[in-house]
Amino acid sequence: MTNDITRLSASDLASALRSKTITSVEATQAHLDRIAAVDGDLHAFLHVSSDEALATAAEVDAKRAGGEELHPLAGVPIAVKDVVVTKGLPTTAGSKILERWIPPYDATLVERIKAAGLPILGKTNMDEFAMGSSTEHSAFGNTKNPWDLDRIPGGSGGGSAAAVAGFEAPLAIGTDTGGSIRQPGAVTGTVGVKPTYGGVSRYGLIAMASSLDQAGPVTRTVLDAALLHELIGGHDPHDSTSINEPVPGVVAAARQGAKGDLKGLRVGVVKELSGEGYQAGVSARFDESLEQLRALGAEVVEVSCPSFAYALDAYYLIMPAEASSNLAKFDGMRFGLRVEPADGPVTAERVMGATRGAGFGDEVKRRVILGTYALSAGYYDAYYGSAQKVRTLIQRDFAAAFERADVLVSPTAPTTAFKFGEKLDDPLAMYLNDVATIPANLAGVPGMSLPNGLSDDGLPVGFQILAPAKADDRLYRVGAALEAALESSWGGPILNKAPELKTTELAR
Ligand code: GLN
Repeated sequence: MTNDITRLSASDLASALRSKTITSVEATQAHLDRIAAVDGDLHAFLHVSSDEALATAAEVDAKRAGGEELHPLAGVPIAVKDVVVTKGLPTTAGSKILERWIPPYDATLVERIKAAGLPILGKTNMDEFAMGSSTEHSAFGNTKNPWDLDRIPGGSGGGSAAAVAGFEAPLAIGTDTGGSIRQPGAVTGTVGVKPTYGGVSRYGLIAMASSLDQAGPVTRTVLDAALLHELIGGHDPHDSTSINEPVPGVVAAARQGAKGDLKGLRVGVVKELSGEGYQAGVSARFDESLEQLRALGAEVVEVSCPSFAYALDAYYLIMPAEASSNLAKFDGMRFGLRVEPADGPVTAERVMGATRGAGFGDEVKRRVILGTYALSAGYYDAYYGSAQKVRTLIQRDFAAAFERADVLVSPTAPTTAFKFGEKLDDPLAMYLNDVATIPANLAGVPGMSLPNGLSDDGLPVGFQILAPAKADDRLYRVGAALEAALESSWGGPILNKAPELKTTELAR
């Protein structure tokens, strides 16, 4: 059995710290020990920052002992996806092109985490530049799913999800451009939230597609996600797309929801996000949860969003187009890797070519080529222009659906975790994983995935909730209510059913 401290939710750990039952140094050390014991197998972390984490923990303990007023999550350790810049800590975005780059500043959300006194355990693995659904596109090896080490932990944020599901960290940060918080959440039995676009600052996130990217919480409970969301959310003058309004009352909504009363709430089932293509066990668990929502007093209606059928196509033009432009700055001159041509003259252009050729992986190259093509004169209107029109239609579908329902729901991902290699040679099959998560990014609306039991193959399944922009609190009300009902039917959190990981002492 694992160390008990690592099984606590962040909110329970925070209470134990407040009541001085344990210290932050003990809590942080317990998680570092767990990482040392299981991460040789899981490979959720690209970098473990033990010294820095323990120093923060000691500082928080001293302040607490001195009677200082602290943030509710002070002293609770956290893991951060490696696409978020951290001053003095390596940040690679899963790419060889950034190997050994040390950022000179902190992302705004990291500043907030540090100011609140959360020890940062390290940086988590991911698909290169957040492109993928499995972490198989990381330049530094796969992360394993704690439920089955032969299977993917989702992506791109598989490292954050595996760290939380594997009890290496109670909290983690993810980023979601097309589902990279929610789909890993679904396949690892964790909670993941993509806030409203602009709800959490993007300052200091290594951009993939700027109009879609959003950072958010990865946790084991809905309340923990709310606590972290409230901490990292809110206006930031460094991000021109940041919403200049207070963070929606997500913690209050989670506490309210946990009481289990959804009377008067209208839940819309999106017709286009279920049925064909969804694994039988995924659909069965989804239908059962609709029954749970009815039992809690919600009214369940069906809504139709016909243009969601084109969401994937629009996304795979808009996202590569923006990424091709965002990734142009990795040129061998400013950051990380620099490769000189093997022979011939050393011109700027040839160094850029050699660096990008050696530093980027296949999936990144594929998308840069696709995006550059879609943006080129002569094709711009046909591809990028049409995709933007589809995006408007998707936004209109959401607006119409939210007239009829307060939240929309669907399975998070069509299948449970697949095996390594299963979809690696077939990019289109890989892309299909995101069919249910992508519409939210295209419209900027918030979404949550929470554990929805196990499919017939014994692997976790996710339940997705979507709300109108700036109404993130609704996700938490519904999520917490459903979580409470489901956990009482399972006799506790779903992760209790995950197999024990083999532990080994690793020298780090
Ligand atoms: N899997 C999707 C992609 O490959 C989403 C990635 C993400 O959200 N960062 O683009």
